[in-house]
Amino acid sequence: MNEIGKPVFSTLQSLYPDPSIVYTHQWFSRSIYVDSYDVIIVGSGPAGMGAAFEIARKKPDTSILMIDKNKYSTGGMRNDCKMNFTYPIGFPLEYWDKSTAEQYLKDVTAFLAPDILHKSNIEVYQKRAERLGGSLLDIKQSHLGTDGGLILIKRLLADLDALGVTLALGETMLSVDEQKRQITTDTREISYRKLLIAPGRQGFHFLQRILTSLNVPFIDNIVDIGIRVETRIEHYPIVKDYYDPKFYFEDKVRTFCTNSGDAHVVKEKYVTSRGDTWYSVNGHAYSKERNRENGMANFAILKTVKFTAPLASGQAYAENLGLQAALMGGGRPLMQRVGDFRLGSRSKEDSFNSDYFDFTPTLKDCCPGDISLAMPSKILRNIWKAMKSLDTVVPGVLHPSTIMYYPEIKLYANKPVYRDAMFRVTQNIYLAGDGAGTSRGITAAWASGIRVAHGMLKDL
Ligand SMILES: Cc1cc2nc3c(=O)[nH]c(=O)nc-3n(C[C@H](O)[C@H](O)[C@H](O)COP(=O)(O)OP(=O)(O)OC[C@H]3O[C@@H](n4cnc5c(N)ncnc54)[C@H](O)[C@@H]3O)c2cc1C
Repeated sequence: MNEIGKPVFSTLQSLYPDPSIVYTHQWFSRSIYVDSYDVIIVGSGPAGMGAAFEIARKKPDTSILMIDKNKYSTGGMRNDCKMNFTYPIGFPLEYWDKSTAEQYLKDVTAFLAPDILHKSNIEVYQKRAERLGGSLLDIKQSHLGTDGGLILIKRLLADLDALGVTLALGETMLSVDEQKRQITTDTREISYRKLLIAPGRQGFHFLQRILTSLNVPFIDNIVDIGIRVETRIEHYPIVKDYYDPKFYFEDKVRTFCTNSGDAHVVKEKYVTSRGDTWYSVNGHAYSKERNRENGMANFAILKTVKFTAPLASGQAYAENLGLQAALMGGGRPLMQRVGDFRLGSRSKEDSFNSDYFDFTPTLKDCCPGDISLAMPSKILRNIWKAMKSLDTVVPGVLHPSTIMYYPEIKLYANKPVYRDAMFRVTQNIYLAGDGAGTSRGITAAWASGIRVAHGMLKDL
């Protein structure tokens, strides 16, 4: 189970079961017959939703089953839910050229009807970044917040239900038999004509098992590794002008997933194939509507690392880094104040209580320490250089009280060999979303789902 934002989970769980939605909870007893659907969609994240809505609206007589191992979709739609509506944010370039992505983004935008956030003064920051060899992208963004995301998910599930899509929430897909066109879940066997598997980043291992069982070749040689920075908004005031500023610096380092206002750093639990646990940090914010601003901002600063022979698996590398950090942090992620880092000393419990260190870390269960003992030096050097550039563009972000949390790792680079542009991996099986490498964000995941739907619709 993902432990991101435990309080968020409890808020969400209180929303279910919702009397306004008729859930088809077929998992309570093992069926003696094999259920059968035209389309099965595994994963109720944006990739699964994009496909489900497109098929249900374009071909309403299609029987569609959407299953999710959780009783609600996980990922960004329910954590912060900031959405980017400008190419190339979220679109891996190997699958999306500008015109294809923009064509799909038009559909995603029309469907989600976002309130695009106003930006100001960005030319000033852009000029400063360019002088340092970097850039600041001008991206159309909306922000619902973690609470707003939950409301959106609830509405979308009700809409799918109204369109006749069968929802089986709390049911886990275990395996697939493409010969029989059948999947096995933790409660039953279900047959399909077309299958979309969109299990997100958390489904990374699961998807690799499925690909291996189907003899579909894949690589996962790219990984993003970095830190999450947390500071007071007054030390990163750009967030008042631009909610999630996308800076790109040299050495493939970029800022990512900025949250502010009522912003919190959280941790995600990962378990390796050998059963060892490690944590990656992440961040989210609630909407302004809650009126509980804590005055904090957080964002990731990540370096993309691409491996070539002989190391084939970015995931294996990332897991080892995650385990190393967990070893040093007594099973927790590490955090260090910028002031301590600059002096070459570790942070300690009392680094977070005195004088300069004037705010409490929002991630409580984290170990003060020395991130430079846990992070590969090349990655740390590149990230620190980018942070110094950022401090020149937005003076103040390297205030001694600023916290650097480590590790923040993004494993979204399973790259299967696709048979066609619609993300088909076998005659009847399609993959989409972050777990399958076709997206790195909500809107691109949604676009990937629509693209799969178009592939399926040709055959249905
Ligand atoms: C904490 C956090 C915050 C984020 N914030 C943002 C943000 O603000 N903006 C943004 O654009 N992106 C954000 N992201 C990234 C975003 O979540 C993803 O890009 C997006 O959700 C990917 O969509 P997806 O459909 O591929 O996967 P997901 O949204 O992860 O959905 C996959 C679903 O599949 C289900 N599943 C997995 N395995 C199985 C199985 N075996 N059987 C049944 N169901 C299964 C999971 O329970 C899950 O609900 C965030 C991610 C995280 C983790």
